[in-house]
Amino acid sequence: MKKKNSYTRSTITRRDFVIRTSIGVGAAGFGFASCSSPKPEESDSTEAKETTKRKLGVALVGLGNYATNQLAPALQHTEHCYLAGIVTGTKQKEKIWQDKYGIPDGNIYNYDNYDSIANNEDIDIVYVVLPNSMHAEYTIRGAQAGKHMMCEKPMAISVAECQQMIDACSQANRKLSIGYRLHYEPFNAEMMRLGQKEVYGKITGLQASFGFTMGNLDQWRAKKAMSGGGPLMDVGIYAMQGSIYTQGALPVTVKAIETTKNKEDWNDVEGSLEWEMEFPSGVVAQYETTYEANIQFLKAKAENGFFELAPAYVYNGLEGVTSDGPMNIEPVVHQAKHMDAFTANILNNTPVIASGEMGMRDMYYIEKIYASAASGGDVLSLAGAPQVLHLV
Ligand code: NAD
Repeated sequence: MKKKNSYTRSTITRRDFVIRTSIGVGAAGFGFASCSSPKPEESDSTEAKETTKRKLGVALVGLGNYATNQLAPALQHTEHCYLAGIVTGTKQKEKIWQDKYGIPDGNIYNYDNYDSIANNEDIDIVYVVLPNSMHAEYTIRGAQAGKHMMCEKPMAISVAECQQMIDACSQANRKLSIGYRLHYEPFNAEMMRLGQKEVYGKITGLQASFGFTMGNLDQWRAKKAMSGGGPLMDVGIYAMQGSIYTQGALPVTVKAIETTKNKEDWNDVEGSLEWEMEFPSGVVAQYETTYEANIQFLKAKAENGFFELAPAYVYNGLEGVTSDGPMNIEPVVHQAKHMDAFTANILNNTPVIASGEMGMRDMYYIEKIYASAASGGDVLSLAGAPQVLHLV
């Protein structure tokens, strides 16, 4: 790793990055002093307050499954930003998206002319929804074009790339958020509240798993050069996040073991993986991720009860139960809440919850999980991770 990309506890402190919030506050709790994209130092100026009110424009980069079936529909539910543009390498998609979402000719880009998005005042936020290995390049180029950046999870395929993305956004004075939509999802927010506020006493056990049976082995997810890894990068990351925001603390050690069943299918990335993370309280959380079975839950045991979600991480249809009975929670379009909250962060120059530093923290943990699995289960310290937490 080059020196400029290195990070230590001394450069990223707990004080800087522990963020407290309550769900909805980010989106609902901001006044539209200005609806332009003010530079941070301008955000409170009289000049900015007099700017014409408008929604911020979002351009999606990469019109695959997630952008098409989740993000574009979610952008029809946002209050403070809207789908203004697209970046696609597939010519046929241009007209389909234009017809469906009324996107003007001037707001359509391909991967060759992407950088000229710098000249487009309709686009304030660029949202990278490409295969994992492309996240760093397109986030850095977007920031250099002067845009605020959202990037899908996992943030990148190495900690070094994450640092480069953070640096590029920081140098361009632009904000960065990672597509950790569940920070804006109310069932997961309830897990945060129950765990962090110790509603059932101190947590005594945590289990979190996410996996699905991957049918298509020809896609980029099965190729390490494009994905960076297997189900851990893709969906295990949600289980890891879930345990952290439920506990409200960062893990201190990790121990992992690869548990792939069908080695013929899964020779480039892992097919299955199990790991444990120890928290400062002494709780040892247990995790499983896989492309070889359907599994999905987030479970916490505490001194005086339990609380859990299953399914825990899907777009719709989450279910939660506590030792007192079912959680009665109204679902929301949580991707819309996330994008509105990020818009608020931009307009009000407030800290981003699902930040680049949080994405880099998780990439640090993922690198350690893979290192432990490669060693056959060594216990590794996580002390060097960025100290970033979402506290409610
Ligand atoms: P996908 O394969 O459906 O879409 C990928 C897009 O990238 C396609 O439009 C494809 O044409 C384009 N692309 C450009 N260059 C490519 C190349 N060289 N090889 C392959 N595709 C290329 O994938 P997806 O499921 O939409 O996932 C995209 C990103 O979104 C991933 O990082 C994934 O982890 C993330 N994702 C996040 C969530 C979430 O809930 N936050 C859900 C699904 C996917």
